[in-house]
Amino acid sequence: MPWSITIGRIAGTAVRIHITFILFLVWIGASALRQDGGDAALRNVLFIVLLFGCVLLHEFGHILTARRFGVATPEVTLLPIGGVASLERIPEKPGQELAVALAGPAVNIVIALVLILVAGAVIPEEMQKIDDPRISLVARLAGANLFLAIFNLIPAFPMDGGRVLHALLSMKIGPQKATQMAARIGQGFAFVLGFAGLFGNPMLLFIAIFVYVAAAGEAQDSALRSAVTGLRVMDAMETRVATIGLEASLGEAVDLLLATPQREFPVLDGHRKPAGLLVREDLIAALALQPREAPLSEIMRAPAPTVPLGQDLGEALTQLGAGGAPALCVVDGEGALAGLLTRETLAEMMMIKSAQPDWTFKRRW
Ligand code: ZN
Repeated sequence: MPWSITIGRIAGTAVRIHITFILFLVWIGASALRQDGGDAALRNVLFIVLLFGCVLLHEFGHILTARRFGVATPEVTLLPIGGVASLERIPEKPGQELAVALAGPAVNIVIALVLILVAGAVIPEEMQKIDDPRISLVARLAGANLFLAIFNLIPAFPMDGGRVLHALLSMKIGPQKATQMAARIGQGFAFVLGFAGLFGNPMLLFIAIFVYVAAAGEAQDSALRSAVTGLRVMDAMETRVATIGLEASLGEAVDLLLATPQREFPVLDGHRKPAGLLVREDLIAALALQPREAPLSEIMRAPAPTVPLGQDLGEALTQLGAGGAPALCVVDGEGALAGLLTRETLAEMMMIKSAQPDWTFKRRW
């Protein structure tokens, strides 16, 4: 994740802190300092740091369980909303997926139980007031850990409970259908949660929107991945592609933009090899600053993002995914342009699949 600082490595996993988390700590400290003085500020910051220590332990619950099944985790990042462990993959066996998902919340329950035993006389009413600085740090931490366990077990993606649900459904109806159904259940749950939020806690409404969007994304992602299984880049690329030469000017690029519905244009050198990619947004932005005659080479994205014709479409999707390239130049064995892979084509493939589920996209070459 960009804007993160690596603070160390634990058991082969880099522990990173996102810059917003540090800003969050500063904000917590500063607002407590202004309201209640230095003592309260220190206590609040200490509480948040300890709380995120527990979040990190939760993530390592997932990470270490996944490692037992041979799945590595290159990094874990702490954000103000919690931790994100980037597992290399989700174990395919539902039993393993279940164990990995449950391991995180289980860690919080163990921490809460230990704290309750250590603190001794924690009464339930005290544990509910985790945001009250007057009650003891240990009681607040115990309460927060119980909250973390329960919150993470909400049966909706991206919560651990969503994974638990998915694993249980996979055992009955197979992984692909399970994803669709788990996403639907999660969205239904988000509705109920949002409804409760409308009349009670506005925080619930916020969580509900978050869950709803994430569940929709997961379902879409899984549908897309199942639609492209077994396909190669050449089956999905656009073949009638407008291109532009490396020597062209901004003015010529504008003419081409207006003449075609394309948004991304491969910029080709003399040997028809992609030297860069011209993106509509970059072109419009450049027009405000540069004259018509300015060379295209200054505003294109270089080197051009390329994929070979025969590459697995699923892998190419990852390159096209969030934060990746807006389009991929498909190249043949000599490195010359053969087509363009765009998100629009993939969206069209999805529409065709939903209208005609048995449709095959295999092209004859
Ligand atoms: Zn978790």
